[in-house]
Amino acid sequence: MASIFTKIVNGEIPSYKVAETEEFYAFLDINPNAEGHTLCIPKKEVDKIWDLDEALYNRLMTFSRKVALAIESVVPCKRVGMSVIGLEVPHVHVHLIPLNKMADATFQSKVTLEKEAFEALSQKITRAYLASNK
Ligand code: 5GP
Repeated sequence: MASIFTKIVNGEIPSYKVAETEEFYAFLDINPNAEGHTLCIPKKEVDKIWDLDEALYNRLMTFSRKVALAIESVVPCKRVGMSVIGLEVPHVHVHLIPLNKMADATFQSKVTLEKEAFEALSQKITRAYLASNK
């Protein structure tokens, strides 16, 4: 069965898209640790990050870096952290999390955002991503 993230890539489940390439997709986490919390995924459905072939893993990191720099340029924060967990969704995803305090990295404190806030954030990050990839 297709993962929830494959359904997002295929447009069967809506998402707040941030960036997309032929191989990768980035979108806002629906239950964010902080405003701008973004997930970067390969469209190819693989469960664990260490099972990606090395070249695809490296390209995912390059894509994630570009998205992180875009987030950092428009979301006020001390830095953008990165973590890979995967205990909930068995489809590789890199969490990019704007950090102001350690709690933002813990997945225990969450922020609630309205649809309009998600839309505004995804649009801001998308604009920055596209501007840096001209
Ligand atoms: P993990 O698998 O790394 O433990 O966590 C999965 C992450 O995916 C969580 O942060 C969760 O909020 C996010 N997530 C789960 N389902 C959806 C969804 O349908 N849409 C979006 N945008 N994020 C999701």
